Amino acid sequence: MPKTATHMPSLSDYVDVVGPDIIEELTILAAHAGARSIKMVNSTAVGGGVAEMLHRVVPLLTELGIRVEWDVIEGNDRFFEVTKSFHNALQGNPLQLSDDDFAAYLDCNEANARKMDFDQDLVVIHDPQPAALIAFHEHRANRWVWRCHIDMSHPNPQVWDFLKPYVERYDAAIFSSALFSPQLSVPQFRFFPAIDPLDDKNRPLDDDYVEGVFEKYAVPRDKPVVTQISRYDPWKDPIGVIRAFKMARKYVDCRLLLVGDKAADDPESEKIVERVRAEAGDDPDIHILLFSPSVATEINAFQRGADVILQKSIREGFALTVSEALWKRRPVIGGAVGGIPAQIIDGHTGLLVHSVEGAGLAIRSLLHRPETARRLGENGHQRVKDEFLIIKNLKRYVLLLLALDTPSEQTRLLR
Ligand code: UDP
Repeated sequence: MPKTATHMPSLSDYVDVVGPDIIEELTILAAHAGARSIKMVNSTAVGGGVAEMLHRVVPLLTELGIRVEWDVIEGNDRFFEVTKSFHNALQGNPLQLSDDDFAAYLDCNEANARKMDFDQDLVVIHDPQPAALIAFHEHRANRWVWRCHIDMSHPNPQVWDFLKPYVERYDAAIFSSALFSPQLSVPQFRFFPAIDPLDDKNRPLDDDYVEGVFEKYAVPRDKPVVTQISRYDPWKDPIGVIRAFKMARKYVDCRLLLVGDKAADDPESEKIVERVRAEAGDDPDIHILLFSPSVATEINAFQRGADVILQKSIREGFALTVSEALWKRRPVIGGAVGGIPAQIIDGHTGLLVHSVEGAGLAIRSLLHRPETARRLGENGHQRVKDEFLIIKNLKRYVLLLLALDTPSEQTRLLR
């Protein structure tokens, strides 16, 4: 099996995964939407879940007859420091931003808005970084939607008060969970993200290749491997993962593998990796890998080769990593936050935890009960197949185009 990217899958390749009816339904819906165009805007071409999804959604929507353009905004270090603070504040950090910070944010949005065209029927702006673009494009005849991928359950009021008036200029806002839909004057949709079962991150791999990747990075599989594959970010709680692992290891011998890459728009990851390394000390059973960027088939191999996968987030927009792990039939332990409970039905498709201690117990329990772990992984695979594959996401975009033609009640699900 080739280890690098194969051909880009087209819609017909998904018939074997989801069945012919679902593809036919999608094609009919897209034809109903007619010839339309969408512009996607986000802040990074690689690293993190949004870029991950856009790489696949854009070509497949194009195949459905929708013309899609994807632009990445440009910004200097100062801008990305400020937007990182926005992100942290919107997820609940009690940060205090200065007037200069807000000015730097607006200046960068204005400079990008001047360089970009927005002639498409629908403009989808992803996350807070480019949210103010709309303010510099006053006379618009098309629809604009703000797609929020972050956990907005406890937004810091200073940053949300600043951002909200921009969000309310949009025609609609989309969140990954009804749990953190804020009060807004514009219609809202709930819209799950999705993974691509045929891309290098998720397609089947030979066991030899999986074994080879563990060997390449010197992670022995002589005992069970517990892993978290996530950006090094305090919200993903890598320190909590190490503590939980150390608790579990008192009762069951295992290794911990932490894997993460650096997003281009994240100035903080190096510092966090230093803290993670300090927490791990010189423990020979803890393996910490930092990529910039990582190789998709290798991430796929780490997920397939793991005995237990954690996503012990404290705040989380959705966590594609959970869908990826469940798709590979892995037993997954997830923090009960953001979009994770939509994926992990506790005790059925994985285990939800609320603390380091809970995560430690869950690791022990899954490593002691392989039959339970297998059943959770199997159920998890089915849940992802039903709800979180890219074909469903394409359908949501087509429905969004149609729904915006006739906006009605406030909060809706795009099934
Ligand atoms: N990811 C990766 N390499 C890494 C760590 C993560 O490719 O070293 C991928 C991961 O497989 C997933 C995405 O980055 O596809 C992270 O998306 P998620 O929604 O879990 O979190 P985000 O980073 O967007 O908060």
